[in-house]
Amino acid sequence: MTYSYTQISQYLTCPRRYKHRYLDGWREKDTRAAMLFGRAFEQALAAYFLREDSTAVLFREWAACQNQSLQYSKGDTWDRMLQQGIQLLERFCQDDRIQIHQPRRNLQIKFTRAVSKKNDFVAYVDAIGHLDGTRSLLEWKTTSSRYPEEPDGLLALDPQLVCYSWMTGIAEVAQVVFVRKRLVEVQYLHTTITDEQRQEFGHLVEDTIRRIESAEFLPHSGIRFPQNPCSSCPYLGLCLGRQDLVEAALIRRPGAEDLGWLDELTY
Ligand code: SF4
Repeated sequence: MTYSYTQISQYLTCPRRYKHRYLDGWREKDTRAAMLFGRAFEQALAAYFLREDSTAVLFREWAACQNQSLQYSKGDTWDRMLQQGIQLLERFCQDDRIQIHQPRRNLQIKFTRAVSKKNDFVAYVDAIGHLDGTRSLLEWKTTSSRYPEEPDGLLALDPQLVCYSWMTGIAEVAQVVFVRKRLVEVQYLHTTITDEQRQEFGHLVEDTIRRIESAEFLPHSGIRFPQNPCSSCPYLGLCLGRQDLVEAALIRRPGAEDLGWLDELTY
């Protein structure tokens, strides 16, 4: 079986959610505008490093989503998101803080690693390059609000960065955060992941896989005010037995359990 960060993260969020998704084949409908925009924007970033016309690529990729019945977050429209994307590309180009040599080799890089005799782990790292001259593993994020930078060192606890550091052995990691707001902003967040964190993450992966293989799928519903993860969970309809909510949010892809690692390419 091939595992990925997304699978481990889904299980740790709620084991029942993992079961709905990876064992029973229920998937969220791909209608979230912010997610599709993020994918289009990453294509445009790749074009930028390949010295192609990144604005044209953004328009082409985002236009391909235009006629889908997208779900926009508050205040977003297709045009507004396109304008923000173009402004973010301009800002990123002006900043000129990221260099990627041999971009065909160093963008969307696949890493695999054995975690036991029958299981392996796969990760697709957005890029390996230099941030302000320091060689770093790089992750792109598009968001509508700034990532928190306080308290100092917070980024070192980001589980995805720890995971990718564990996969690659690279200690210097960075998130480049493209913030779509009225005045767009690019955040360059850098941190160092320690050996101890990488070892702990390896244990977390082994432990999580052991629980999955033992078929432990109890719900972690967390029904407490004010943070109730169920209320924003796409699988809520299944847990409540509400067919209307299921049909609104999900489609079924039975037999997809061995392809869960493909999530890495789409998130
Ligand atoms: S609705 Fe709640 S209990 Fe059900 S899968 Fe989602 S997070 Fe888990």
